[in-house]
Amino acid sequence: MKEISLKPRKHIALIAHDNNKNDLLAWAKFNQGTLALHELYATGTTGAFLEEALGIPIVKFMSGPLGGDQQIGAKIAEGVINFLVFFWDPLEPQPHDPDVKALLRLAVLWNIPTANNRATADFIISSPLMVEEYLRTTPDLDRYIQSHRRINK
Ligand code: PGA
Repeated sequence: MKEISLKPRKHIALIAHDNNKNDLLAWAKFNQGTLALHELYATGTTGAFLEEALGIPIVKFMSGPLGGDQQIGAKIAEGVINFLVFFWDPLEPQPHDPDVKALLRLAVLWNIPTANNRATADFIISSPLMVEEYLRTTPDLDRYIQSHRRINK
């Protein structure tokens, strides 16, 4: 395992499926002051919706079904995004279910705090760790690559 230092200013990705966008908006409005202390990222439609309602700048990726979830997953793997708020819809299948699963997998792999519903998001956003430095353990890539080189020889 390796440790990565998370600075007090976190890099937060916000995503909501269509039936959950109003829930995310209500949560984001309530926490607007806190969210403004951090860097915000979002999939395309969620980002446009939140940016207009909150007036906070948000880095917007493509829409989820067009690749946005994968772009956010890539930013997690690169170490850029370090908190995920993803209100996915438990009642409707999505055309991009494999991308959703891939993103959730990367969030677990890279030890990213992840809120998939409002109560979890409330608990995480009110944690003192949100505004402090935090040492996040992550997989040790060098060791992983070395052990796989040995297997493939
Ligand atoms: P959207 O994507 O913000 O572009 O609606 C969300 C998603 O479905 O992952």
